[in-house]
Amino acid sequence: MVYEMPVKVYQERNAVANHAGELAALGRKACIVTGRHSSRQNGSLEDVLSALKAEGREWEVFDGIEENPSVETVVKAAQAGIRAQADFVIGIGGGSPLDAAKAVALLMASRQEWEADGLEAALCYLYAKKPCPCLPVAAVPTTAGTGSEVTPYAVLTLHREHTKRSISHRIFPEIALVDERYLEGMDRDILVNTAVDALAHLIESYLNTNAASYADMFCERGLYLFGQAKEGLAAQVPPPGQYGRQLEISTLAGMAISHTGTSLPHGMSYSLTYEKGVPHGRAVGFFQKAYIDAYEGAARKERLLELMGFADVEALGAYIEGLTGRIAISREELERYTKKMMGDARKLANFPYPMTEEKMRGMFEKSLEIR
Ligand code: NAP
Ligand code: FE
Repeated sequence: MVYEMPVKVYQERNAVANHAGELAALGRKACIVTGRHSSRQNGSLEDVLSALKAEGREWEVFDGIEENPSVETVVKAAQAGIRAQADFVIGIGGGSPLDAAKAVALLMASRQEWEADGLEAALCYLYAKKPCPCLPVAAVPTTAGTGSEVTPYAVLTLHREHTKRSISHRIFPEIALVDERYLEGMDRDILVNTAVDALAHLIESYLNTNAASYADMFCERGLYLFGQAKEGLAAQVPPPGQYGRQLEISTLAGMAISHTGTSLPHGMSYSLTYEKGVPHGRAVGFFQKAYIDAYEGAARKERLLELMGFADVEALGAYIEGLTGRIAISREELERYTKKMMGDARKLANFPYPMTEEKMRGMFEKSLEIR
């Protein structure tokens, strides 16, 4: 077994201000990578700028990261960071800006490898199978879903392949500053979709080829806490403390998938997100019940249900469907998505049993309406 969790995580109110010195110690000038609106509205960007100012650091803001960030956008952000001569990267936002920040830090560290040849060379570099240098990254999450602040993954959209894929390099942030204040004004659908993503990470990590004690430790605690938080999450108005609980769960879930990776539901979700714009967490939620049904280890499934306080898989499935609803796809889409998923060797490898095209089609049919 391997244990690797090198991120220093502070989860507390005012985490950014409280640890401004550690943030500033990462470099002289920060390239701040964030989304278009939310980090201005929830105060996270302002907190980071105040902390850098107080510590006498400079910065450059790139605020053009879209949901499910593309390689094209990441290259633009890296070019901006290089022009500004920044020497560390701060990602602020949901999983999209945090993942983008990791890829930007990688590209900025080796401009000579790709800059002259543009997008194609950057793409090769991001997906190369060799060790590459990287600038230090700090992460300030503003959703409680992906756990990207503690994972080494950076999932990017590849328009050329009509899908999403994690870059080949493992990049852990140096520091994660986790503060529930940034989540307090978010729409309920963002809270719910991202919480379902964290739940998916726990389930796919617990029922995984790579499952072992070190990852189980995070999964079991996360599943237990999800069980405690599940009614609050389903309520129309989140009860006090809900955002902090969801952040604790998503961070634990991120630590779990750092050790195991995600499995079939994540792979199956990518077509729905790419082609239909279904938010990531909602898209992975559709496939959880079929995944648990397909998993053959009865003892682990029982333990999972017990930790979360569900009587059986049906009850867990009904709970998730209550959060995500259902969607329909066509027969033609079913065939295409099935074939695409059968080509995703990495996600298939994390499911401990042989998979056939027929079984995979069956999982899609169980999880979505087919018209
Ligand atoms: P997201 O794509 O980062 O953000 C979704 C939306 O939420 C955006 O419109 C964003 O607005 C808004 N938003 C963010 N924080 C907010 C806040 N505090 N209040 C109100 N609105 C807020 O969503 P996400 O689900 O966190 O991330 C999804 C991405 O992460 C996907 O690309 C997925 O593949 C990836 N992912 C990565 C990992 C990993 O281990 N690295 C794991 C799972 C998923 P703005 O655009 O204005 O900021
Ligand atoms: Fe995810």
